[in-house]
Amino acid sequence: MKSNNDNERTIQSIQKEISDFVSKRDWKRHHNPVNLSEAIIVEAGELLQLFLFKSHGSVEKEAKTESHLRERIEEELADILIYSLELADHLDMDVSEIISKKLNKNSKKHPAVI
Ligand SMILES: [Mg+2]
Repeated sequence: MKSNNDNERTIQSIQKEISDFVSKRDWKRHHNPVNLSEAIIVEAGELLQLFLFKSHGSVEKEAKTESHLRERIEEELADILIYSLELADHLDMDVSEIISKKLNKNSKKHPAVI
């Protein structure tokens, strides 16, 4: 069951939480755009590894019903999102704006069919 936190937190408050976490560990000196981009790819690989050799037909059901798999997917997806939000923050990019701009661009490239 999906919790309701997404309705209560802002992207900015999440980015602040990430920034505080990173600062308290003195990791900011390692977190430049290149390293953050590399980290996103590494974490995306870890996410993909969870699906390795699984049937495409059953993987969605497994991801929704098998608690251990679901927890691992959540962890890797969180890693990707954390690094992505940190990269956007690092480059002074507004996450809502860049997502809307990209969806708008995609809608022109791929017009709605329904
Ligand atoms: Mg990971």
